[in-house]
Amino acid sequence: MSDLKYKRIVLKLSGEALAGDQGFGIHPPVIKEVAQEIRDVYKLGLQIAIVVGGGNMWRGESGAQMGMERSQADYIGMLATIMNALALQDNLESLGVPTRVQTSIEMRAIAEPYIRRKAIRHLEKERVVIFAGGTGSPYFSTDTTAALRAAEINADAILMAKNGVDGIYSADPKLDPNAKKFDSLTQMDIINNGLKVMDSTASTLSMDNDIPLVVFNLNQPGNIKKVVEGDNIGTTVRG
Ligand code: UDP
Repeated sequence: MSDLKYKRIVLKLSGEALAGDQGFGIHPPVIKEVAQEIRDVYKLGLQIAIVVGGGNMWRGESGAQMGMERSQADYIGMLATIMNALALQDNLESLGVPTRVQTSIEMRAIAEPYIRRKAIRHLEKERVVIFAGGTGSPYFSTDTTAALRAAEINADAILMAKNGVDGIYSADPKLDPNAKKFDSLTQMDIINNGLKVMDSTASTLSMDNDIPLVVFNLNQPGNIKKVVEGDNIGTTVRG
C-alpha cells in the first residue's frame, strides 16, 4: 500500500468499456475482464470508487436529436448507467470483491442512495463503491460525475479508462499519422486547445479542484495497476 502513488481513486468507466467490439449493451466476457482488472488493483489495498457511464445503451443527446425532450432523454441515460453499475457489481462480487452501488436517483430496492459520508465509510471499510445515475441531473455527463464525486470524496486522482487509446493526442491518432501523444498536460491546455478528453464542465470542475486525471488505455491488461503504482503510462493532466 505504501508504494502506491494513489490511495483513493475514482475510476471512470465509459459504458463503451463494457460493450466490447459489439459496441452496444453489455458483453459478458468484456465486463468480466474489466472486473478482474479491478479485483487485481483492489488487492493492492487502495480505496476504489467507480463512476460508470451509460453510452453503451443510451445517450441523451442522441435521443434529443431524434426529437425527444432533452431532459427526459437524459434520464433514460442515467438509468442506463444504473444497469451497467448493477452488472459491474455482480461481476465484482462473483470475484469476491465487496461492493456497494450508490445511485444519485433513489432506487432503494436495488441500491443505496448516494450519501457522501456513507460512501467514504464504505471505502474505509474496503468496499468498492460504484456511483450510478450520474449526477442525477440532465445536461451533465458521467465525466462530470467523476470529477464531482472525486472532489466530494477527496480522491487522489481520477483514472479515465479509454478504449484502445493510450492517452491524449494532439489529433485523432487513427486519422492523423502525425498526431503527437502528450505525457502530461494541464486542464487549461485541454480547454484552450479544444482537446477532446472530457466535456468542458468536467474539465473545469477537475481544474478548480486540482485533482489529477490520468487518461490511459483500459484494453491493455494490467494498466490500472500500472497507473496506481505510478508507472508513467497514458497522459497525466494536472489542474
Ligand atoms: N447523464 C445525465 N446526467 C449525468 C450523467 C449522465 O443526464 O449526470 C445521461 C446523459 O444523457 C448521457 C447518458 O446519461 O448521455 C450516459 O452517460 P455518458 O454519456 O456520460 O456515458 P459514457 O459516455 O461514459 O458511456
